[in-house]
Amino acid sequence: MTITTNDISPASGGQGVGQGAMASDAKLWDQTHVMTTYARQPVQLVRGEGCWLFDTEGKRYLDFLSGIAVCSVGHAHPYLTKAIAEQAATLIHASNLYLTEPQARLARRLMELSDFERVFFCNSGAEAIEAAIKLSRKYGRAVSESKVRIVTATNSFHGRTLAAVTATGQPKYHDPFAPLPPGFDYVPFNDLAALEAIVNDDTCAVLLEPIQGEGGVIPATQEYLTKARELCDRHKALLILDEVQTGVARTGRMWSYQHYGIVPDVMTLAKGLGGGVPIGACLARGVAAETLKPGDHGSTFAGNPLCTAAANAVLDILADECLTQNAATVGAYLKERLAPLGATRGMGLMIGLELDKSIAKKVVVEALALGLIINATGDTTLRIIPPLILTKELADEGVNLLTQAIASVAL
Ligand SMILES: *Cc1c(COP(=O)(O)O)cnc(C)c1O
Repeated sequence: MTITTNDISPASGGQGVGQGAMASDAKLWDQTHVMTTYARQPVQLVRGEGCWLFDTEGKRYLDFLSGIAVCSVGHAHPYLTKAIAEQAATLIHASNLYLTEPQARLARRLMELSDFERVFFCNSGAEAIEAAIKLSRKYGRAVSESKVRIVTATNSFHGRTLAAVTATGQPKYHDPFAPLPPGFDYVPFNDLAALEAIVNDDTCAVLLEPIQGEGGVIPATQEYLTKARELCDRHKALLILDEVQTGVARTGRMWSYQHYGIVPDVMTLAKGLGGGVPIGACLARGVAAETLKPGDHGSTFAGNPLCTAAANAVLDILADECLTQNAATVGAYLKERLAPLGATRGMGLMIGLELDKSIAKKVVVEALALGLIINATGDTTLRIIPPLILTKELADEGVNLLTQAIASVAL
């Protein structure tokens, strides 16, 4: 079907698509033509500035979500904006058939900041997981034909592509899409005995989130990650930490594995890395870094000059504004301020708040009405993942709004 502007936009007095459409037009187009995979909140956001978002009515919202841990340096950061604009005016894309400086520079900087040796760039968290899974399978099969099993945790989240969703240990995400790729074993998170029982010489990788994000902000225990590292060493399996949400300063360290004093073989990144521009990365060291060879894997868009220039700018801002430290100090402060509202979990600016009633979804709606954007990961859990530029003053403001929202819902 061909859609003309006349078909679409009678209500806006002849204004067509892309010509200053009304908010109501966008809502209709969205409801009519975008696949219904998301339960959207009833606001249309048009603009952001720092920790604030603005809707079509000009109403402002304090952002305690950062686009799901993506807008790490806040909205419309002038340095990031300039870097993106300048790169867009220079070279947006060249393909991976050619070398480009922003990609090489980003690779170098990620290595300097971490314990890894090589990176595969991609466009999302799920793709970073796909790369890690393919890498692990190739690594395992080079040792023995049966070394193909991948151990993941129940309640985990690793993305929506078929292999990433299979790695995700939540049956509700699996059932509609069977048959799934074989070779995955699931164990309860933070259960040392279960992990020890399942990992063996046929395991090619153990894949874990250091802090389960979508699962409700549940940190791995120190003993658990220590045990995972030991078991992987004993059975020559790769330890993959999925830092798509926890990475890039979110938890008050550059990478959350640094809290645990262990180093994985593979680490996946995405969300906060590009400050809002889609980019993912799969970092590896040792034999894992040398496993994928020409032709084994690839992506057209991956690591293009635009997204890598954005990620380079994000790394500049994190350093210049000491945002890793800020995530640690403001995160600790915010956690303390949230404590009267319920039990808190998490590290840095990745905080889960456990409410004593099943009202989390209602609180999200009420908070939105009051001007606070926040997210629920379950019936009783709120997830708080603000931009890393959050100040103590804004933390206070958010806690006040959240306190009001909870009070009015709990009435
Ligand atoms: C969000 C998330 C993913 C998936 O990332 P996408 O960019 O949505 O594909 C994978 N792992 C973790 C831990 C995540 O939080």
